[in-house]
Amino acid sequence: MTATVDRSAETLTASLDAGAERIAAFLTGHRDTLVLTGAGCSTESGIPDYRDENGDWKRPQPLQLQEFLGSETVRRRYWARSLAGWEALRLSQPNASHLALARLETAGYVGHLVTQNVDGLHQQAGSRKVTDLHGRLDMVACLNCGRSLCREVFQARLQAMNETHEHRVAALAPDGDAELDAADYETFRVPACEACGGVLKPTVVFFGESVPRTRVQRVFDALERARAVLVVGSSLMVYSGYRFVRAAAERGLPIAAVNLGRTRADDLLALKVREPCAAVFDRLMRYFPTT
Ligand SMILES: [Zn+2]
Repeated sequence: MTATVDRSAETLTASLDAGAERIAAFLTGHRDTLVLTGAGCSTESGIPDYRDENGDWKRPQPLQLQEFLGSETVRRRYWARSLAGWEALRLSQPNASHLALARLETAGYVGHLVTQNVDGLHQQAGSRKVTDLHGRLDMVACLNCGRSLCREVFQARLQAMNETHEHRVAALAPDGDAELDAADYETFRVPACEACGGVLKPTVVFFGESVPRTRVQRVFDALERARAVLVVGSSLMVYSGYRFVRAAAERGLPIAAVNLGRTRADDLLALKVREPCAAVFDRLMRYFPTT
C-alpha cells in the first residue's frame, strides 16, 4: 500500500504542489546538480521497483552473478524469463520524470545524471550526460571473448531457438527479468557466442558484481563539478549509488530526494519529498515555463 491511500484528493494535490515547489527552488538555487535516479523513477513507465516503503525486498532477491556463472540451469531460467521480460521492457516509454530531467539538463540545472536503472529511458527522453551505473539491458556480451551484440539480434535468436517453448509472464521485474508460470526451463535453449562459443550475459551489473572502476570514477568527476545532489526514486539501499551521496555529504553539498519511501541517506538530506516521482516532476515543470 502506498502512503497516499488515506489522504483526500485535496491534501494530496496540496502536498504534491508543495513538494514540486521545494524541488524547483532547490534546482534553481543550485545549477549543475548531480541527479541520481533509481527504480522509482521508472515505475510510472510500467517497470516495477524492487523495494517497499521500508526499503525491504518486494520480490525474491535478484539473481546473483555467481549463480549465473555457476549453473547452466540458472542461465536457462534467466534467459527464459528474460525472453518474456524484455518484450515488456522494450515497449516502455519515458514518463514525466524522465522528460523533465532531460529538459532540465538542456537548461543547465542538471549537470550530470547517474542512473541505477538499466532501461535506457533517460536517453530515450533526451538526456545526454548520463552514466548508466549498472549498465544497459539492450546489449549482450560474451564473457569469454568480449564480443557484444545488440539485444534485439540476440532476442531474435533466442526466440527462433525456442519457438515451441511455453512462456507466459506472471510479473515483470525492473531488470527485465520476469516471473513465469509453469515454465520448463530444462527444455529451454540458450544461444552461445557465435565467435567463440562462450557464455553470453546482458551488459548489466548483476548483484554480487562490481561496477567498472572507470564508470565509478566518471561519476566522482561529475560530483567534483556539482553544486548539489538530487536523488530521484531510489532507496539508496545498494552501495553502488549510496557512496556518491555519502561523498557529497562529506563535501558539504546540499542533498535533496524525491522518493516515496525511506532512503538509506535520510539523515543526510537537506530536503525530502515523500511523493511519487512522476507526479512531482509533472508539477515541477510549471516553475520552468521556458525550459
Ligand atoms: Zn565469444
